[in-house]
Amino acid sequence: MFGIGVDLGATSVRMAVVNDQGEIMSKTRRWTESQRGVHNVINTLVEGIKEITEETSLSIHEMAGIGIGAAGQVHPVTGEVIFAPNLGWEHVPLKELLFSALQKSNPTRLSFPILVDNDVRVVTWGEYKYGAGKGKNTLICIFVGSGVGSGIIVEGKLLRGRDNVAGEVGHTIVKPDGFLCNCGNKGCLELYCGGLHLKNRTIREINSGRKSIVPEMVEYKLERITPEILHQAQERGDPLACELWNEAKHYLSIAVANLTTIFNPEMIILGGGVITSCRSLLPTVVATVKSNIHLLARNSVEIVESHLGDDAGVLGAAAMIFDEFK
Ligand SMILES: [Zn+2]
Repeated sequence: MFGIGVDLGATSVRMAVVNDQGEIMSKTRRWTESQRGVHNVINTLVEGIKEITEETSLSIHEMAGIGIGAAGQVHPVTGEVIFAPNLGWEHVPLKELLFSALQKSNPTRLSFPILVDNDVRVVTWGEYKYGAGKGKNTLICIFVGSGVGSGIIVEGKLLRGRDNVAGEVGHTIVKPDGFLCNCGNKGCLELYCGGLHLKNRTIREINSGRKSIVPEMVEYKLERITPEILHQAQERGDPLACELWNEAKHYLSIAVANLTTIFNPEMIILGGGVITSCRSLLPTVVATVKSNIHLLARNSVEIVESHLGDDAGVLGAAAMIFDEFK
């Protein structure tokens, strides 16, 4: 069986033809450019899907379906993107729009399903099916990129919650009366370890007169600050970068420790750009969690890095389709 997996992020969209063994047959990546409008994104998807199916010499009719992981809050039944601030979308009927655009570009009637879910949940499903979490039953995946998202699988089932918004670990409060988050809470986890917030905080500190080597590293173009740059600055002993990373490690460890205590998972998988750019983050989190929890859950939890990296989204999205046919 073959399926198409789509990972629709704010920056780029990845698309792949995947077989039911979790092998990628062909893939492509394009810029999302959501500011150019929803129809532009739909066209990008149609073109990308055409390219990857042609590359495998398979027809679109041989696909079992299309799975999509999209940034933001998604209604998995209607396939609507309800609210995706990073895409600038509200109430976009993604499934419907893509299906009719694909139908227009194909002379024969299409009859496969399109499934849409939240991107981090889809990534979690990918790691569970084909990656670090293969063979596990209860696991949590935390992705630390621009923001922080998570997916929770309990006894083989993805946890959704009453309103389909379970697992927003990035907006759990780790510092009472901390910084104000755009969700309305104060002291949310992602304000201390999300890549976008690390960058914004560095800029704020520098603009308020704080001495640091970071401005020189980015040739005084502060918009070029990335987690990689901040990590290099930390390695060179820059006090501001050290302070920010220490805080990131501290608060991420608290979140991981609390999730371990609440869910008693077999595994916690950490992934995303911030995790890969700061190599000391994961070992620090592991050490802090192991030395701070004294309950039984500590002994059984494995805390590991994502195995599938950037392919987790397309693999998880295709796996959703294969699950439909089981
Ligand atoms: Zn928040």
